[in-house]
Amino acid sequence: MRIEQNYSLEQHNTFHIPVKTRWFIEYNNEEELQRVLHDEYFQECLSLHIGSGSNLLFLNDYNGIIFHSNIKGVNLVEETDNSVLLRIGAAEKWDDVVAYAVSNGWSGIENLSLIPGETGAAAIQNIGAYGVEIKDVVETVETYNQLSFEKRIFTNKECEYAYRRSYFKNEHNDPHIVTYVNLRLQKNTQFSINYGNLKEELAKYPEITLATIREAIITIRKEKLPDPAVLGNAGSFFMNPLISIEHFERIKKQYPSIPFYPTTENKIKIPAGWLIEQCGFKGKSHGAVGVYEKQALVLVNLGDAKGHEIALVAESIRSAVNERFGIELMPEVKYVG
Ligand SMILES: Cc1cc2nc3c(=O)[nH]c(=O)nc-3n(C[C@H](O)[C@H](O)[C@H](O)COP(=O)(O)OP(=O)(O)OC[C@H]3O[C@@H](n4cnc5c(N)ncnc54)[C@H](O)[C@@H]3O)c2cc1C
Repeated sequence: MRIEQNYSLEQHNTFHIPVKTRWFIEYNNEEELQRVLHDEYFQECLSLHIGSGSNLLFLNDYNGIIFHSNIKGVNLVEETDNSVLLRIGAAEKWDDVVAYAVSNGWSGIENLSLIPGETGAAAIQNIGAYGVEIKDVVETVETYNQLSFEKRIFTNKECEYAYRRSYFKNEHNDPHIVTYVNLRLQKNTQFSINYGNLKEELAKYPEITLATIREAIITIRKEKLPDPAVLGNAGSFFMNPLISIEHFERIKKQYPSIPFYPTTENKIKIPAGWLIEQCGFKGKSHGAVGVYEKQALVLVNLGDAKGHEIALVAESIRSAVNERFGIELMPEVKYVG
């Protein structure tokens, strides 16, 4: 177990904000986690479990404990004629898991290529891209309740997945720490390629395979999104809003070219990036905070931006979109502090 005091989180958040945490605790297995959860001194402290910080915005130094898992490993625990079940340590880098599945010919997560972060967080966030969400393949999620210390294995249904939502993100529920994620992947390849410009990109390849889908998605994402290692960011800052059909019809009268995606809940999903672009923010900078020139949904740290400066720009975007479209954008990024 690694325990650090007054530790910089600059390398633990993709905005690269150099806040410090009072304690940083990284455990290597479930036994170490249990030990630290039972420690009376640490029980008194405020705490937050992080992955690689690619969806976090630290506003201040953290006066508590930042937990981080170092539980790794991808194990094949069951194999049938049609599928495999993988048990994956929460600290496994998500994109390494995708690469491993694709190289073995197992389908289901290839569309989730190059999403930053760790596997435990992926199951909490219900990560999604190109028409696929991790909920489509999650069998169970292994957790520890941070208050009762009990181990609980959640079935897919118990995870209460919805768009970028899960049981674990609901602040009314007890905090749970994810230690392993069990994914069911298919051996017979069923591709999902009808979303966005994926089909067009795939037309450049001689055939459609898991490997070419992964490659095409990586190409598109690299063109569209800034690499956090080069330009600090946390991906989409806001969630794509869902609005009623009536509301959508009203906006469409004024903006006939508005992009939209009908959803199953009788709602219309509008790309938040388009709304922000219409309000004139795309490519603009406000001090050290930029709105990425290729995708207005991404806020970037142009140098030494502070967390609260990024939050201020996000707030002015929210009010502008609300004023013009009557739509309230909700941050996808979690504010800490
Ligand atoms: C360039 C870029 C592109 C992105 N593209 C996408 C995309 O296409 N689709 C998408 O869905 N997301 C996307 N994201 C967002 C981000 O990658 C995901 O939300 C990712 O799952 C976060 O993983 P993380 O390990 O960085 O988690 P963190 O940001 O560290 O944490 C996220 C949440 O999970 C909690 N958490 C983390 N690990 C654990 C654990 N083991 N136990 C309990 N709680 C935990 C944290 O408390 C926090 O609430 C993108 C981000 C970036 C920077």
